[in-house]
Parts: sequence; C-alpha cells; structure tokens
Amino acid sequence: MEKYCLACGTLITGRIDKKFCDHYCRSEFNNSINKGKNMWMRKINKILNRNKLILEKFVARKKLSLTVDILTAAGFDFRYYTHQETDEEDMKYIFCYEYGYRIEKGKEVRLKKVSSLEE
Ligand SMILES: [Zn+2]
Repeated sequence: MEKYCLACGTLITGRIDKKFCDHYCRSEFNNSINKGKNMWMRKINKILNRNKLILEKFVARKKLSLTVDILTAAGFDFRYYTHQETDEEDMKYIFCYEYGYRIEKGKEVRLKKVSSLEE
C-alpha cells in the first residue's frame, strides 16, 4: 500500500508506519494543527479583552448606569462574556472577568466590579 506524507503529499518510502517524509514535514504539520487550535482562543480572547477594557473604562469613570447603545457604540460585543453570577439580591450579572453587567428593561445597563471570584 502506498503512503503519502501528511504534510506535503509526497510518496513515502521506507518504514510502513511512517506518516511524514522527514522531521521538517512532521513539525510543519504539527505547527499547523496548533495554529488552528489556538486561532479560536486568540480570536475570542481578543474580543473578551476588549469587552473587559470597555467596562473597566466606564467603571473607572464611575459611570455605572448606561445603555446597551452606549456600550455597543464603544465597541462592546454582547455575544462574548466569561461567566454569569447571581448576587445576594438574586440579580443575575454577566461578566467579562471581574466586570459584571446586567441589562434592565432591555436597554439599560448596570455595571459593577467584583473584587473576588466566587467558586
Ligand atoms: Zn513531506
């Protein structure tokens, strides 16, 4: 049975269990897999980080009440967040790391920063 290199497609000669023609093709192949895996993390982390920085900016200016439109205009992406928590008053907050928000009446946003992570 003929076998072809998984990286470059060249016909492999030699041992039957070989998957690559050489060390170079093996590492090229493995690097391309890792690049693909990390692409999702890099892409999403970038959005989460931007969301966090936007919330951080408003909290730093003590602007804790704003609107969905203001956050959207600032570049906030509501599709991405890190986790959700319900506080002692039974209010559910959505978080980007330590910055949480909740949406009231469909458009008003309340921000808060927490200092410790509940586990
Ligand atoms: Zn090859």
